[in-house]
This record gives sequence, structure tokens and C-alpha cells, in this order.
Amino acid sequence: MKKILIGTHNSGKFKEIAYLISKKYKKISPITLKIKSPKETGKTFISNSRLKVRYFSKHVEYPVICDDSGLCIKALKNKPGIYSARLAKKHGGFFNAMKFILKKLKKEKNRNATFVCSLSYKNKNGKIISVEGKLQGNISYKILGKKGFGYDPIFIPLKKKITFGQMPKFKKIKLDHRYLAFKKLRKKIKI
Ligand code: IMP
Repeated sequence: MKKILIGTHNSGKFKEIAYLISKKYKKISPITLKIKSPKETGKTFISNSRLKVRYFSKHVEYPVICDDSGLCIKALKNKPGIYSARLAKKHGGFFNAMKFILKKLKKEKNRNATFVCSLSYKNKNGKIISVEGKLQGNISYKILGKKGFGYDPIFIPLKKKITFGQMPKFKKIKLDHRYLAFKKLRKKIKI
């Protein structure tokens, strides 16, 4: 069976990416291989996803796929953006980070936000392909729902009435920024 390394330590992301990739692949986690994550020194989603894919490829001889993603909130000058994971770390977890965001937006009428995902894929010959998916939505007024991961309980996709945190997993997976990026990738390679 063909193997692919999904270069993330985030179990929510791992499950989503694994679900999208063909059943023909055995999906390997860096946790199983005891490979740590690289430092995210890039200034953009795309530079970080490429940096990750280059790093993880040094450890295996089969294809690697990595994402760099985050939540860009218009009223916060598109923050936390590439710092989404770091914001949660700074506040001691996602629940506190979401509380912090809701407090910042307390008097804000413009709740526009975009979930962005850059996916990079490196094949065993070393070629890297990068694509980006963006999903528009709004930040809710409360933390709603227990499903999903990360900032899911405060993000309401455009034309929907519930947060990702309230949405069944199979619905979110076929709607979100990672899926939009993946659809673009699938136009370029069989995966
Ligand atoms: P990074 O790509 O490892 O820098 O992490 C991106 C951060 O954004 C993580 O903390 C994620 O939890 C968050 N994030 C990315 N995609 C999603 C999503 O689909 N739902 C909720 N949070 C997300």
C-alpha cells in the first residue's frame, strides 16, 4: 500500500486531511514516527506550509502533505492569521483564546472572518505543489458547540446559521477551507 505522511501534530487537522485523501494511501502521522514539528518562521500561510513539507520530507521517502491554516478576522486587522495556534498557546488553550477574541469584538458590528488554508504536497521526486483555500464567514457572539477543534465554536460559515462547532463533522469536512484547498490540489495530482 502507498504511504503518505500527513505532517501535523494537530489531531483535528490530521483527521480532516486523512478523510479527504484516497483510501489507497496509508496515512502516517509524525507522532507515530516521533518526528517533532518545525518552527513556523514563515510570514505567510503558503511559506509555512512549504517549510513544513520540506522539513517532514527529510524524514521519509514517500509523499508528504502539510497545511498551514488560521483564522483571519477583519476587525482585528486579519489577526490572528498565521498566529492562530500561537494565540491559543499564549492564552492557555482555545477556549480562552476564543473568549479573548469575543471580548475584543464585543462592540464590533463587523464580524467578518476568513478561514485560510494553504496545503503543500511534496512527491518523492521532490516537487512541491501548493494551493490555497479560503472560506468566508462571521464570528459568533458566543462560543457555540463542542464539535470540531480549534476556533470552530466561534466561526459561522457564510450562508449558514450555526458554527462549525455545532455542525456534524462530515458536513464541516466537505465545506471548510481545507476542503477548498484540497479540491484545487486534486485538480493537479491524483491523491
Ligand atoms: P498551524 O497551521 O499549525 O499554524 O495552526 C493553525 C491554527 O488555526 C490551529 O491552532 C488550528 O486549530 C486553527 N485552525 C486551523 N484550521 C481550523 C479549523 O478548521 N477549525 C478550527 N480551527 C482551525
